[in-house]
Amino acid sequence: MDYPALRRERLTRQLAGEDIDVLMVSNPVNVTYLTGFTGDSTVLLLRRDGLLLVSDSRYAGQLAEECPGLPVHIRSTSQKLPEAVAEVLKGFGIRSVGFESNAVTVAELELLRQLAPSLDWKGGTERVERLRMVKDASELVQIRTAIDVAERVFTAFRSLLRPEDTEKDLCAAIEHYARRAGGSGTAFPPIVAVGERAALPHAPPTSRTVASGELLLVDWGVSAPLYKSDLTRILVNRKNLTFSGTTSATTAKLHEVYSVVLQAQEAALRAIRPGVSTCAIDAAARAVIAEAGYGEYFGHGLGHGIGLQIHEAPWLRPNADVPLEPGMVFTLEPGIYLPGWGGVRIEDDVLVTPDGGERLTHLSRDLEAMKL
Ligand code: ZN
Ligand code: ZN
Repeated sequence: MDYPALRRERLTRQLAGEDIDVLMVSNPVNVTYLTGFTGDSTVLLLRRDGLLLVSDSRYAGQLAEECPGLPVHIRSTSQKLPEAVAEVLKGFGIRSVGFESNAVTVAELELLRQLAPSLDWKGGTERVERLRMVKDASELVQIRTAIDVAERVFTAFRSLLRPEDTEKDLCAAIEHYARRAGGSGTAFPPIVAVGERAALPHAPPTSRTVASGELLLVDWGVSAPLYKSDLTRILVNRKNLTFSGTTSATTAKLHEVYSVVLQAQEAALRAIRPGVSTCAIDAAARAVIAEAGYGEYFGHGLGHGIGLQIHEAPWLRPNADVPLEPGMVFTLEPGIYLPGWGGVRIEDDVLVTPDGGERLTHLSRDLEAMKL
């Protein structure tokens, strides 16, 4: 099955509703999505009745390998990319060109307008991104692989963890395991936060050791090779924490906070259904945290789409109103961050199915299983 061709078909159908003769796709991720080509400095010109990739000689071989059969125009070395694009567009004899406002710089647009003054340039930000929200069968296979690799990374990470390891050592270890386990790398710089540093949702790694805190927050994901996964788990340092009953204030607090975050995530998963708005899923989790009295300590959105990018549409947050559709894949990552104490976030990747939500990640979320 030629998935990029099917995606282009869906896109051209969508363009028929807009008064656009050619869509100029210059965001490299969108070019990959629509053609399979993974290099950069290449523009896809998509018409209702055809397409052309404008690139340079460095990529001629890679284009032939990754998207055989697609027409390619190799610009001359004396020509800049916008100059080549303007020349090709003028040759098409068309009137209006759609461009990606979030991928073209002001300078590039000014140059294009100057080189092709008779064309009507129409910006837009969501044309391809809207399609990318709903994953096709080939993308789902790749996301499941990225999750599988990430889970194997975590198992290796956990079994080799030593008390003297620092946050920095552990981030480096995750990067290494991501490649060893079959990924092309991590999907983003991993977060490993010990003790109260876990109160920072995006804590940069320091020289703090695992042994110095009660809990360890690990947020990681891999690219395998193009599609991403994104997970977060809390590990508990058995030596620094007594788990039998409520013998320590920290133990009791961790149990309470963890159970609220877990219930919030489960409420969100239960709320997933085609047609329900993304903000309603966010609200389902947020209500559980607010009812437990921690509303002010959950300061970020509930989740984000994953795919060719680690953060992409749809967004699950209070002000994002996108109806869920089967095939959407996103994270559910509620958290509670208590300054000076630490933080708990549980992050899983889920798929919207015709009748609900399916958790794609399989690592345990049971706190007892997360003791080191
Ligand atoms: Zn994450
Ligand atoms: Zn995330």
